[in-house]
Amino acid sequence: MSNTHFPAKGLSWDVVEKALADYKVDDIDWAHGRAPMYVFYADDALYDVVKGAYNAYFSENALGAKAFPSLVRLESEVLAMACEIMNGGPEAGGSLTSGGSESIVLAVKTARDFARAEGRLGRRDTGKLVLPSTAHPAYDKAAQMMDLDAVRVPVREDYLADVDAMAAAIDDRTIFVVGSAPGFSHGVYDPIADLGAMTAEKNVWLHVDACIGGYLARHVRALGYRVPDFDFSVPGVTSISADLHKMGFAAKPASTILYRDGRMMEHQRFRFSDWPRGVYDTPNITGTRPGGAIAAAWATLKYLGADGYREIAKQIMDIRQRLIDGIATIPDLQVLGDPEICIVAFGSDTIDIHAVADRMGDKGWMIGRNATPAAIHIMLTPVHGQIMDEYVSDLREAAEAVRDGRVASRPVELNY
Ligand SMILES: *Cc1c(COP(=O)(O)O)cnc(C)c1O
Repeated sequence: MSNTHFPAKGLSWDVVEKALADYKVDDIDWAHGRAPMYVFYADDALYDVVKGAYNAYFSENALGAKAFPSLVRLESEVLAMACEIMNGGPEAGGSLTSGGSESIVLAVKTARDFARAEGRLGRRDTGKLVLPSTAHPAYDKAAQMMDLDAVRVPVREDYLADVDAMAAAIDDRTIFVVGSAPGFSHGVYDPIADLGAMTAEKNVWLHVDACIGGYLARHVRALGYRVPDFDFSVPGVTSISADLHKMGFAAKPASTILYRDGRMMEHQRFRFSDWPRGVYDTPNITGTRPGGAIAAAWATLKYLGADGYREIAKQIMDIRQRLIDGIATIPDLQVLGDPEICIVAFGSDTIDIHAVADRMGDKGWMIGRNATPAAIHIMLTPVHGQIMDEYVSDLREAAEAVRDGRVASRPVELNY
């Protein structure tokens, strides 16, 4: 029943609180590992810290730099830590944003305005982005907003960016090249070092999309796993997007856009004075920005530290191994590519994987799907530890049911 009526007399908090709880009953039970993405949760202790920090700055607004010098300080300290984590030099800099999409839109805008300032792109020229076919849709969102062309270059058989094919797609109008670390669809790292060598030679901007893995990778590596180089330690990397609200385990909304040369912020910033209030100056797309998200990001980085993130990384890598080992025991299923960290996509050469996903849905799982090639997709966080055995045994049953023809394929549902 819908409840669209605007009440003439306000409701009590008791009523409102109960209604909110009741509204949630059909939502996915992410806290018990039923969701394949969307929520990043490590444990109750961290959750309390993140919420406490958020609430301590619940009302403050980062638009007001003069009013809230503490937020300016918190933000600059988060950025300094972010640059250190990404192996930036003393000139590195950037800004905190509302998410991966905003970080990406800003990176594209900065690259375009830099190319214009350098005289490499005329105001009437249509700049071009060269992306691997696996890149996140946010690049096309940016291209649509700014009237740029986005060209997607097919990836190799192993789902990694094809550096030679991307090199061939670069021309005079190309202002931005992307590699993902890792890409969302298969969780594999594009060859960032090779892309960096190629773009440096051509003097083209290379953006690394580390939205998912940026804050986790070094801790996975510290555990002894192989993770390809992707950050500012790689020559040729110009900018990096990395989300604090994903594998950084901070509160939403929080992401970082970082530049090897922090002076690029001059091309990102918006300054305007032709209105009655005089100078209006913001680093990002948004005006008002929640102080809570900044305080929570700061608190998360300080509270966890490298040892805390390493513990989370260990849990995720153990869960990932349990999943990969489990899939290996199910005859019809195969992992796609060689995913390094927290995302696993798996499909089948013999049975309809979407029918397997439907059957999993009937068992109460929310299943992420890839369209091409067809696959089931999951982004692992510590909450998935509690359910991995059940997930794998349900997968086994679902695969058998499909193989035996006990499940008919239904039209594929949308993911988001
Ligand atoms: C999630 C993600 C984005 C977009 O981030 P939002 O926070 O959802 O806006 C971009 N790139 C990659 C690789 C991502 O995983």
